[in-house]
Amino acid sequence: MTREKRSDRPTNKPLGPIPAGFSGIDGELAIGGRKASELVEEAGRTPLFVYSRDLLDARVAQLRAALPERLAIHYAVKANPWRPVIEHMAGLVDGFDIASGGELAMVRTAGIDPALVSFAGPGKRDEELEAAIAAGVTLNCESEGEAARALAIAERLGTAPRMAIRVNPSFELRGSGMKMGGGAKPFGIDQDRVPALAKHLIAAGADWRGLHIFTGSQALDADAIIETQGNVLNLADQLAEEIGTPLPKLNMGGGLGIPYFAGDEPLDLVKVGAALAARFENLPENLADTALCIELGRYLVGEAGVYLTRIVDRKTSHGETYLVTDGGLHHQLAASGNFGTVVRRNYPVAIASHFGAEPTEEVNVVGCLCTPLDRLADKALLPHANVGDLVAVFCAGAYGASASPAAFLGQGPAAELLV
Ligand SMILES: *Cc1c(COP(=O)(O)O)cnc(C)c1O
Repeated sequence: MTREKRSDRPTNKPLGPIPAGFSGIDGELAIGGRKASELVEEAGRTPLFVYSRDLLDARVAQLRAALPERLAIHYAVKANPWRPVIEHMAGLVDGFDIASGGELAMVRTAGIDPALVSFAGPGKRDEELEAAIAAGVTLNCESEGEAARALAIAERLGTAPRMAIRVNPSFELRGSGMKMGGGAKPFGIDQDRVPALAKHLIAAGADWRGLHIFTGSQALDADAIIETQGNVLNLADQLAEEIGTPLPKLNMGGGLGIPYFAGDEPLDLVKVGAALAARFENLPENLADTALCIELGRYLVGEAGVYLTRIVDRKTSHGETYLVTDGGLHHQLAASGNFGTVVRRNYPVAIASHFGAEPTEEVNVVGCLCTPLDRLADKALLPHANVGDLVAVFCAGAYGASASPAAFLGQGPAAELLV
């Protein structure tokens, strides 16, 4: 075995893959057919999130083409609750999943029909339960205690609450970035206690809306998703059998991931769709007339968003070059590596002002915050960039603006545009 000399070894760290659908115009990154500099001019400032309608439309069209027609597609609002995005998604998807009273207010402001909304999430307060029940939103109950509070509130309001049960299954989504099932969890009700509670809800006069089984997020392995969806259908059948009535509705969860990092391969959606179609061909009696849906967040909106930030300083330290931007982890906690990641890896990042140019230098792209955590790209091979140039961070459509600490260091929120 020959050892490379230290100086011959590349020191740069790979960038994640830039999602499909982006091109250059006059050497600049274009989003929705418009140059990054024009978009910044329209917004009036950087940093700026830009979301592309075309890419949102295209993603939903891909899903519709690949998945069985019977499977409804719900949008998990927490991925991106910006009102214009919710309003755009309203024309594309079949339902909305929320996880707080704040998100309930957001979907209502956006004019979404509450009958299309389901509300999961542990720790729902009485005011949140009341607002949801009064509006006719489906509650995905996370505990027996929550169910009792919801029934009492509904009785006071004189209405039959729409209630489903979120199941904590004994299995999880293999290879998922964030596991939400299997073993002790704050989410859902352990599967063996579900039939008793369901019978209780039905006997108490609730409008029984079935089950919600969410097992994890950010999975890129089609086989793992197929296996989990099979487990979810089997479990739903078994629980319906024990409850003693066919299931009206089943939210099968989601977990479809997007490639963020070098080496990540896009999910084989066609394979997932084909396996589901085969399963749907012969569903057991308990599921024969069940309304089936999946709930997706990042898969719907993640790749449609770009974060644009301007270089305010270019400096060197101990031989390394730093491009210091006016953005950072206060808008892009996930890209900085501080939102559920163990080892920090580079998101797809580009110099938007010189899009497609040959990479010529290794640089560190950092934010403007006074903390070493504020990194957007480490040891990245990029085209030469100067003060005033724009940097693009891709995969910024989900868990960006709303999932980052915008108040940190008095920076305030980024601008947002839907184009
Ligand atoms: C967060 C969450 C989602 C969305 O997850 P993505 O990885 O963005 O698709 C869906 N359902 C539930 C219950 C969640 O908590």
